[in-house]
Amino acid sequence: MEQLPEQVRDRITQLLEEHPPDLVSDVEFWGAQFDLGLAWVHFPEGKGGLGLEPGLQAEIDRVLEEAGAPSDNRIRNILGWGMGAPVLIAHGTPEQQDRWLRKIFTCEEIWCQLFSEPDAGSDVAALATRAVRDGDEWVVNGQKVWTTLAHEAKWGMLIARTDPDVPKHKGITYFIIDMRQPGVEVKPLRQITGEAEFNEVYFNDARVPDSNRIGAVGDGWRVAIATLMNERVAIGTGTVGPRGSGAIEAAVEAWKAKERNDPAVRDELMSLWVEAEVLRLTNLRARELARAGTPGPEGSTAKIHWAELNKRIYSFAVNLLGGEGMLYPEGYEFRVPDRAGLGRRSTQMSFLRSRANSIEGGTTEILKNVLGERVLGLPGEPRVDKDLPWREIPRG
Ligand SMILES: Cc1cc2nc3c(=O)[nH]c(=O)nc-3n(C[C@H](O)[C@H](O)[C@H](O)COP(=O)(O)OP(=O)(O)OC[C@H]3O[C@@H](n4cnc5c(N)ncnc54)[C@H](O)[C@@H]3O)c2cc1C
Repeated sequence: MEQLPEQVRDRITQLLEEHPPDLVSDVEFWGAQFDLGLAWVHFPEGKGGLGLEPGLQAEIDRVLEEAGAPSDNRIRNILGWGMGAPVLIAHGTPEQQDRWLRKIFTCEEIWCQLFSEPDAGSDVAALATRAVRDGDEWVVNGQKVWTTLAHEAKWGMLIARTDPDVPKHKGITYFIIDMRQPGVEVKPLRQITGEAEFNEVYFNDARVPDSNRIGAVGDGWRVAIATLMNERVAIGTGTVGPRGSGAIEAAVEAWKAKERNDPAVRDELMSLWVEAEVLRLTNLRARELARAGTPGPEGSTAKIHWAELNKRIYSFAVNLLGGEGMLYPEGYEFRVPDRAGLGRRSTQMSFLRSRANSIEGGTTEILKNVLGERVLGLPGEPRVDKDLPWREIPRG
C-alpha cells in the first residue's frame, strides 16, 4: 500500500469505508470502485481510471482483495474486460465509453467476441457475415462460430463485411451488437471437456444502430487488430497469480501425491517450475509496461509461451497421476458454464482444456508469423488474395 500515490491510497480507504465489501453487493462495490477511478487506474478520469501508471493496478487489486473485496469480475467478464474495455478506450466515442465501460466492470453486461466464422478463423479477414445499411441501422446476416460466452452475453464485438467490392481487409466494419434481440440465435458447441463454453451464433436480419459502430465504416480491421492484440495480452498475461500458482501448482500437487523418489521426474518438474516462474515474472513486467489501448506484439510472445507451457505442464501432471489420470472427476455430462477456461478444475479437466490454449486467441503458428514479421522483420507470408476484391476470392 505504501508504494501507491497518496490520492490512490485515499480513494482505497474511501471505497472500503463507504462500501464495506461484506455489507454491499458485488455490483455496488465494483460500481463504486469504477467511479473512484480504481477499476483500470491507467484509463482516463471518469472512465474507470485516474490516468496513472498501469503497473499500479496490481497493487490496488492486491490491497482490495486482502480487504475482502470481490475480484472475480475480471474472470466473469473476461472478453469485456480484456478486449471490450481497452478497445472502447482506444477507438470508442466518449458516449460509447460512458454507455458501456462501467457495466463491463460491474459484470452487469457480459460481452462476447464475434470474429471467427466456419470459413474464417486464422484468416479472419476472409469473413462473410454481411452488414447492410438501412437508414440509421445496419441489418446483419451470417454465422459466427466458437463464440465464447455468447449464451451469457448482452453485447457482442462484431466484425462484418460492409463492402464486398474492395479487398478483404478494407471492407470490414466493427459494431457492438445487442445479443438479446430477435434475429440472434445462440447454439452451444460441446468441447472435449464436456462443457460448452462456446457457441455457434446465427444472425438473421439482426439489427445494430449506427451509433454502435466503433471506428469508421470500412475501418473495422484496425479495430479488430486492437481487439486481438488485447486478447493475447488478456490470455497470456491476464492471469498472473502468486509464485507457484496456476498450472504449475497442479503439477507440484500431483508430484507430492504420486512421485517423490525418481530424480529424473523431479528434474523435469523443476525445469517446468523454473519456466513457469520466468513466464510469470516476464508477464508481470509486460503488465507494468502495458499502455491503455493497443498493445504491441509482446502480448503474442506471452500468449505463445503461456499456451505451450500450459500444455506441457498438464501433460506432465496427468502422466504422474497414472491410471487415475484417465478418470474424470467432473463427470462428462453436458454443462454450460457461466465463465470461460479459467479457475481451478481437476488436473484431468485442465489437461483437456489446455489443448485449446494454442488455438484460442490466435493459434501458435499464426502468432509465430506475427512475431516473425513484426518483431524479427522476416519476410511476410505470400498473401495472394490481399489486393483482390473480396467478392472475387474463391471460397470453400
Ligand atoms: C476455446 C476456444 C475459444 C474461442 N473463442 C472464440 C471467441 O470467443 N470468438 C471468436 O471469434 N473466436 C473464438 N475462437 C476461435 C479461434 O480464434 C480460432 O479457432 C482460431 O483463430 C483458429 O481458427 P480456425 O479454428 O478456423 O483454424 P484454421 O484457421 O482453419 O487453422 C487450422 C490449422 O492451420 C494452421 N494455419 C492456418 N493458417 C496458417 C498460416 N497462415 N500459417 C501457418 N499455419 C496456419 C493453424 O495454426 C491451425 O493449426 C475460440 C477457439 C477456442 C479453441
